[in-house]
Amino acid sequence: MKYHIWTEGCQMNVADSQRVGSALEHMGYQMTERAAEADVIILNTCVVRQSAEDKAYGRLSSLQPLKKRNPHLVINLMGCLVGVRSTERLQKRFPYVDVFSPPSDPRPLVAFLNQRDGREESLAEVEGRFALQDEELTLPVHERGQLVSAYIPVVYGCSHACTYCIIPYRRGVEKSRPPEEIIGEARALTAQGVREITLLGQIVDRYGKDEPAYPTLAGMLTRLSALDGLERIRFLTSHPNWMNDALLDAVASLPKVMPHIEVPCQAGDDEVLANMKRGYSVEAYRRLVENIRARIPGVSIATDIIVGFPGETEAQFQNTYDLLADLKLDVAHLARYSPREGTVSARRMADDVPDEEKWRRFRALENLQEGIAAEIHARYLGTETPVLFEEKVKKRWRGRTPTNKLVFVETDEDLRAQVRPVKINWTGPWSMIGELA
Ligand code: SAH
Repeated sequence: MKYHIWTEGCQMNVADSQRVGSALEHMGYQMTERAAEADVIILNTCVVRQSAEDKAYGRLSSLQPLKKRNPHLVINLMGCLVGVRSTERLQKRFPYVDVFSPPSDPRPLVAFLNQRDGREESLAEVEGRFALQDEELTLPVHERGQLVSAYIPVVYGCSHACTYCIIPYRRGVEKSRPPEEIIGEARALTAQGVREITLLGQIVDRYGKDEPAYPTLAGMLTRLSALDGLERIRFLTSHPNWMNDALLDAVASLPKVMPHIEVPCQAGDDEVLANMKRGYSVEAYRRLVENIRARIPGVSIATDIIVGFPGETEAQFQNTYDLLADLKLDVAHLARYSPREGTVSARRMADDVPDEEKWRRFRALENLQEGIAAEIHARYLGTETPVLFEEKVKKRWRGRTPTNKLVFVETDEDLRAQVRPVKINWTGPWSMIGELA
């Protein structure tokens, strides 16, 4: 019996897919890269932009012939296309889908297969067996001893209401995971060869805010730092309003926590930010960047920007451009605004920036950021930096610096899971090349 998983979208989905794969392996299934030979196919979907949603539909249609040929094939639609609410509409539209699973939840599929195969297990037993803290469940077999850097969801859902964002509707309300579960999972991953973990949440710096008894994110970073075998810890994504000095100081003082902060700005204009309901001003974001840089020496900062938000004028876009030109952040994840069903912006604001104009703004920022990144990276030339190596791509080993820069090194040595000092010989806007020092 074989399973095949197709994963789209964010890091949370990558982590969710690993859990599903691992759960199926406990039931006797084996992973296959080929959908055509699978008995169970899982599509783990994303709907953050229309393009992602369209890809999921395309993939779904491509499965229909497989299902016709093999009626025993089980198709499981999972993730943000399904969401946490009613699946009635999807059931009507895709009658050949057997199981619908909300994001981060392998249980509907497990329950379906158990029932179909006559396994004598109640849903409660299934839930118990597939409890999140079950240490054996963390990684599918083919990733054990191979995967160097893994994700751990620590905050599910989101209760913020950015007007453009569909995630709260599809992932449900914010819910922090119990600290013991997180520690247990980190320990299990480390035992399976993982050396770096990245803690995930839509607003990860709100970890524990919904549960007074839980530690803060800074507290979790401290506790995770004590784990033997774990070399590096990262976290994403932070919301500017919840990044406090205690968190920044924890990053600065804990050697295992890497000096890299992902803190989206989304726009560099106060009116656009207000329309997005982000809850901060451009000035506040500037001060935050200053504070991050002051408290964490050598830090790298990544941001997210949406261009072409409803009503964004040329002058407002220019403010975003100027902000990025001025702050010179390490990375800018750029997106063109895409109206999402049910969101406030889709319901109340006209998507009035033409597509070509969105593209023009996107490219302008892309060019700007390419120059900034090249300039920042050039400063690494001739320096030595510790790189955690993850995998060999063709002849070169791929790894990351503490600041999350991509580094390639050509060598016959097996570098997997090692942290080695690397002398940087070449830099470009997206990566660097070096040699073992
Ligand atoms: N909570 C996460 C959001 C993840 S979605 C965070 O704050 O980063 C990742 C990025 O997709 C967002 O930061 C935003 O820049 C972008 N995005 C979200 N909704 C979008 C939409 N409707 N159109 C275009 N980009 C969007």
